[in-house]
Amino acid sequence: MNANASAPADAAAQRLRISEIFHSIQGEADAVGWPTVFVRLTGCPLRCVWCDTAYAFEGGTWRNFDEILAEVGKHRAHHVCVTGGEPLAQKRCLDLLARLCDVGYEVSLETSGALDISQVDPRVRRVMDLKAPGSGESARNLMSNLEHLTVRDQVKFVLTDRTDYDWAVAVVRERELAAHCMVLFSPVYGKLDPCTLAEWVLQDQLPVRLQVQLHKILWGEEPGR
Ligand code: SF4
Repeated sequence: MNANASAPADAAAQRLRISEIFHSIQGEADAVGWPTVFVRLTGCPLRCVWCDTAYAFEGGTWRNFDEILAEVGKHRAHHVCVTGGEPLAQKRCLDLLARLCDVGYEVSLETSGALDISQVDPRVRRVMDLKAPGSGESARNLMSNLEHLTVRDQVKFVLTDRTDYDWAVAVVRERELAAHCMVLFSPVYGKLDPCTLAEWVLQDQLPVRLQVQLHKILWGEEPGR
């Protein structure tokens, strides 16, 4: 095969379908509060009932890695968060994560927990959901992912009600999650009162971090914030 014939394939290997790239304040997880550039990849194989990014299920535009890196660089932020949708649903996401780390960014990945995380660059901080029953998608949890978590990673439980909370507590205890990584409990915005969740966490003396979505306190449910 000559160089010209392989060029289209090479170009295709260096691009991703992107819903949006935007500069905001990280609203969740360990990096909360940092000015961060978000790269939102299009598509997700799950359908959580409380999903707040359904607009990323379809559409978007194909953008090559150089274009993505150039737009990220415009914002002069140290933190970059690759999110979705489910970013790992596009296999080339792994290459983008490595490229962002190579440039020197502090990179985090927000992932559903339904897809294999073992091949993610170890420089990336993985923020992985475990879907509680109230999401409607708990059967999709890939529990083998728990074997790959390190102290750099975070497991996030997004909780709708007491049933979700009890399920999360059982998983945390049975799997001894807090011994392996940071554990985050987050109430579904507008569904579970954060004060109620705070009381439950304190009563049970859980080794978890309560978090609320800072960006929604600042800007509500406005997309791209
Ligand atoms: S995994 Fe994330 S993007 Fe996909 S449906 Fe659930 S909340 Fe929405």
